[in-house]
Amino acid sequence: MSARPRIGISLDADEAKVRYELKRTYVDAVLAAGGLPILIPFVAPDHADEYLTLLDGLVLSGGAFDVPPALYGEEARPVCGPLIPERTDTELRLLRAALAGGTPVLGVCGGMQLLNVALGGSLHQDVPTDLGIDLHQQPHPKDVPSHDVEVVAGTRLAALVGAGALRVNSTHHQAVKSVAPGLVVSARAADGLVEGIELPGHPYALGVQWHPESALRHVPRHAELYRGLVRAAVERRR
Ligand code: MN
Repeated sequence: MSARPRIGISLDADEAKVRYELKRTYVDAVLAAGGLPILIPFVAPDHADEYLTLLDGLVLSGGAFDVPPALYGEEARPVCGPLIPERTDTELRLLRAALAGGTPVLGVCGGMQLLNVALGGSLHQDVPTDLGIDLHQQPHPKDVPSHDVEVVAGTRLAALVGAGALRVNSTHHQAVKSVAPGLVVSARAADGLVEGIELPGHPYALGVQWHPESALRHVPRHAELYRGLVRAAVERRR
């Protein structure tokens, strides 16, 4: 019997940064997909590399934070949300090593935004302010899908969930502005917002702006994003 591939999941913190936090749906989605979840605290720059040696795959989770605008050459405006620099430092270190070394990685919401920024892209600091679009912060409950995206045919995302319309949840106030060089857009909302990105040539480097781990309750094919990550992690370990 082969052991489950070890899938790291980055942790969030509460507002006071006293407690680590993570929605159970991430852990449950990795378990259901056949992975062994390993939760990763804020350890950069000392131990991020050590964590990566434990992992066969990585989930960069979302949370109540924004990617520091300094990382894409902007000053934080008042509309920017709270930053958790020690979290982002850890995730960036893990992500850069995963991209360089071929470790499978799934970026969810803020994790997708970090994937774009890590490769040289930028973000809208506040979608309602910058673009006058309001539909991307749905009211509770957050797991119920609230808008469609169009999945681009021929992408890895399309191979996982099918091309064309996909119903997604939406709990983000930021979004990709300029797409990083080398990344391909795999999904867009009807208003043009980028909802999915991926890195061709890497075994599995995908980002989605929605939360597949909670939307899968209502739209089961969202689980394919986690199944694909675990399959790639198994391949990676061979
Ligand atoms: Mn959205």
